[in-house]
Amino acid sequence: MMSLPTSHCSYPSLSICPTEPTSLLILFFPLPKMKCGNCGEISEKWQYIRLTDNVALKGGRGSASMVQKCKLCSRENSIEILSSTIKPYNAEDNEKFKTIVEFECRGLEPVDFQPQAGFAAEGLESGTVFSDINLQEKDWTDYDEKAQESVGIYEVTHQFVKS
Ligand SMILES: [Zn+2]
Repeated sequence: MMSLPTSHCSYPSLSICPTEPTSLLILFFPLPKMKCGNCGEISEKWQYIRLTDNVALKGGRGSASMVQKCKLCSRENSIEILSSTIKPYNAEDNEKFKTIVEFECRGLEPVDFQPQAGFAAEGLESGTVFSDINLQEKDWTDYDEKAQESVGIYEVTHQFVKS
């Protein structure tokens, strides 16, 4: 009853790479669509899963990042961000899919992902930190004063991989 869909996200970038995992602790994962593994109901509501969230499961079954009761079949499903799996997407990963986070899904499955706020990047050579990146438009551009060049992240795409 346990599957581990893995979010593979491609963030093609020019001279930008996300910061070290420690600064990604505020990262959250907007998953607009979650599918119930029991009845197949797909939620329409936006779901945010935050690393900092910790909800206790009923009956002492540990905890999860998010617990959700299915509207249709009432089953309690949960999803957990495996924080140790979070990896930065670096310049050398450019234009390739790379697993940047894994989720442990108990009874539900993320079926879509919408990048929004919560991303950070660091200039490859300048070390300039861009801490408030929103990828809702799939593209982001800024100017790195130190490197005196334009930087950007373009055409963000993603895929989920089940393992
Ligand atoms: Zn259900």
